[in-house]
Order: sequence, then C-alpha cells, then structure tokens
Amino acid sequence: MRVAMMTAEDYLASLRGRRPMEIYYLGERVKDPLTHPVIRSAINAVAETYRAAHESETANLMQDVDAVTGIRVSRFTKLYQSREDLRAKTLMQRQLGRRTGTCFQRCVGMDALSSVESVTYEMDQALGTHYHDRFLSFVRRVQQEDLMVDGAMTDVKGNRSLRPGEQPDPDMYLRAVERREDGIVIRGAKGHQTGVLCSHEILVMPTLALRPGEEDYAVCCSVPVDAEGLVYIHGRQASDTRALDGGFDQGNLSFSGQECLVVFDDVFVPWERVYMLGETAYTGSLVERFGALHRQSYAGCKSGMGDVLIGAAAQAVEYSGVAGASHVRDKLVEMTHLNETVYAGGLAAASEAKALPSGTYLSDVLLSNVTKLHVTRNPYEIARLATDLAGGLVGTLPSEADFRHPVAGNFLRKYLATGEDVPPENRARILRLIENIVAGRNAVSYLIESMHGAGSPQAQRVIIGRAANFAEQKAAARRLCGVDEAPERAALPGPAAD
Ligand code: SF4
Ligand code: FE
Repeated sequence: MRVAMMTAEDYLASLRGRRPMEIYYLGERVKDPLTHPVIRSAINAVAETYRAAHESETANLMQDVDAVTGIRVSRFTKLYQSREDLRAKTLMQRQLGRRTGTCFQRCVGMDALSSVESVTYEMDQALGTHYHDRFLSFVRRVQQEDLMVDGAMTDVKGNRSLRPGEQPDPDMYLRAVERREDGIVIRGAKGHQTGVLCSHEILVMPTLALRPGEEDYAVCCSVPVDAEGLVYIHGRQASDTRALDGGFDQGNLSFSGQECLVVFDDVFVPWERVYMLGETAYTGSLVERFGALHRQSYAGCKSGMGDVLIGAAAQAVEYSGVAGASHVRDKLVEMTHLNETVYAGGLAAASEAKALPSGTYLSDVLLSNVTKLHVTRNPYEIARLATDLAGGLVGTLPSEADFRHPVAGNFLRKYLATGEDVPPENRARILRLIENIVAGRNAVSYLIESMHGAGSPQAQRVIIGRAANFAEQKAAARRLCGVDEAPERAALPGPAAD
C-alpha cells in the first residue's frame, strides 16, 4: 500500500524549500521564519504532528487509509469519510494538545478540506460547474505530498454593521478584483490566520453567507503561501519575546501557536485553483459546515491543553505540600469535570455526524456548537482554578537569570524551598508553565482562541437558536400535562392481588 506522509525532518526541509516570503514582526522584516526563535516554536508544534505520525504509539491515530484512493495518508489531509473519522480526529487532537500544550495549528485546513469538498460537489450537481474535480485534485496533491493547509476564512470585516459592498473601503472583505483569461486576481486581508507561516498552502473561503449582488466576495480558491502579493504581519502574544532569551521563563520550552494577519495584495490565482466564484447561494453552507467541523475540533485540542494545565496544577500543589487537602483535591476534580465535558461534547458531535450528498461526514451542527460554547467558558474556569492552586507566586516569581545569579540564586533556593525532595527550580518551572497557559504566550491558544477561534460565542448562540427544536419540546410538555391530548395507550395492569 502506498504511504504518503512526511517525517518531521521532511516537513522542516519542505519549509526551507519555500520562496522568500514578506513577513513582518516587531516592526522588522523577518528574513527566515525557521530560524526566528519566536516563529520557530510554532513551527516546532506543527512538526510534532508530523513526528507523531511515525511513532508506533500514535501512528494509528495520526494516519488512516483513504477509502477512495486506498492510499495511507495523514489524518490531517483525509476527508471525513465516516463518523469514526470524526471521533478519531478528536482523539488525535487531544493527544497533540497534551503533547504540545498549545495550538498545533493544522486542523483549520483539515476541517476546511471536507467543507469545501462537500460544497463543490453540491454546486456542480445543481449548477453544472466544474469545481469539484478541481478541488479533488488539490486534495489529492495535499494528501500525496502531506502538505499543511491554512484555512483562511475570517475577513477583517471593517464596520460590522455594513455589508461587504457597503464598506467605505471595499477591501474589508476579500474579493475578486479582476477576472482574466488565465485566472482571477484577489485582494483583501484574512485575520487570525492560525499557523499560516508553518503552512504550504492557503485555502481561501468566504467569511459569511453572501447575498445576490455580492458575487465578487464569493471566492474560494487555494494559493501557495509563497505566492507573489502575500504579506504576513505576525501577531504579538503576551511574553512572546521570552523565546529570544530561551530558558524556563518561557514556561513551555519548545511550543507555541501562531496567528498572523495575511494581506492579499492583488494575488493572481489560476483557474485550476478556483473552487467558487460568484455562487453566493452556497456560501452559507460552506461557512456553517466549516464552523461546525472546527467547533467540534476544539473539543479535542482544548481538552488536551486542559490535561497539561490540570497536570501542572496537581504538580504545583504536590511541590508546595498541600496535595492532600480536601479542598485542593476538590478543585482538581472540578477542573477534570470541566475538561471532560468539553471532550465529551466533541465525541457526541462525532457520533451524531451525518453524511452529506458527496458522502463526506459533517459533525452534528447543534452538538458542535454547544461544544464550542462550553469551550468559551470551561477553559477560563479551569485557568482560574489553576491560578488559585498555583498561589500568588505564579505572578511574582523572579526570573531564571536570578536563579543563576550567585547571590540572588542562593536566596531563591533557600526561600523558595518547600522540602528536601523538591528542587526550587522545578517549582519555578511548573509555575512558569501555568503562567504560560493562563497569562503568557499560550493563553492565546487556551483562552483567547477558546473564546473567539472558530467564531465568537454569539456565532454559536445564533446556530444553537436555529438548530434547537422548541416546537417539538413545547409539544412534549403540552402532551404530558394534558394541554394537548395524550396519545392513547393500553391501560397499565393494576397491582397484583394476592
Ligand atoms: Fe487545531 Fe485547536 Fe489549533 Fe484549531 S485551535 S488549529 S483545533 S489545535
Ligand atoms: Fe483555532
């Protein structure tokens, strides 16, 4: 059987093969993202997804056989061909969240592949267009070369009360500005682009359900990350420059997430890479499907990150000698309950998934959105409890450099000691890891992204309101109390007579 999967080393080499890209960070042009310490930690997190695909304990989760081609591919490039695929996705994401303690960035493109595949199929069936085969060729190349795809949906949106065409600046939503014989030219900007500098390809999708008259904005296409006209402005994260110093003040020594603003400054896209242009009626399904799939994804990665935070809190209380206190134990139990609630939601949404006309599976829309709404809350409460258990030192701890100083270091080792078997430095490392997740660099992945990634909470409430079946629920209530006539049923037998 053919296997198409890169190793972590192949992946790093593939990034080196990209043409120079225009990247800005901290007011400077970045020469090489691979050797930039701040950007490199995000690349490291993605590299773990490639590494895990080849390790015996995780390989089965990270790879699977494509049911159509029979080729063994990375799960990150596989279309969802069954409920089991969506369940396995959640398990994989939990493992990787636990392994990296951050957003490993590769799931946006994974969820986008199935979303676009299903919608292009339906467009071709109804409209006689030829998008589906084009898109399938893209998918097969992504699978065969084991590429990382950045899913680019979120436009910058300008004034939120105005439609795309009503904006004073028409570029606030990405659009086709030119249709040529050989392709189209697109202009605009996509915000919050997770892991885009770690990717090989960008899959552009519309950001909202569009209406007739908004055809120029109904664009779905793919572009290589090193295409001409792309400009990247790397986001700032709390304490991100600690990566420049290295050492344990970073909290997480090797991994981080990554978000960029990506400017499409008149990027040319050949026709064979265009998968929608003007079909406004299909933009709503594309956005809703991607939303459901990526909201279900959060169940996996955020519960994996939750595992790390719960573990760090449990270790911190053990180091400080209070692990046996009943209120401490109760807080750890509460954190676990909140974390497993998120995970359970993702598994439930997978088990209720339904096949779309193309045969690709969509996680249950209501349950996916309910899960993501939990994600906008539970990690915050878990982070609050971790901060509580860590104690005030998590906010006042001196730096690693002070631990190394001959005078300050001796005082720190004396006054931060809790027992002979607990090196104060280990205590400091665990507290820095907690800080990293609740208030430092990876709080972007664990908290801010939990709130706003895959759509902010209001977006989930709108879908939940639409998917809820209040009419059926009211009927159930009316029937039980006699407002509506109860269905006839045979009389129950009376008590047995002795
Ligand atoms: Fe994957 Fe989670 Fe990051 Fe989304 S937020 S890309 S689901 S790790
Ligand atoms: Fe995300």
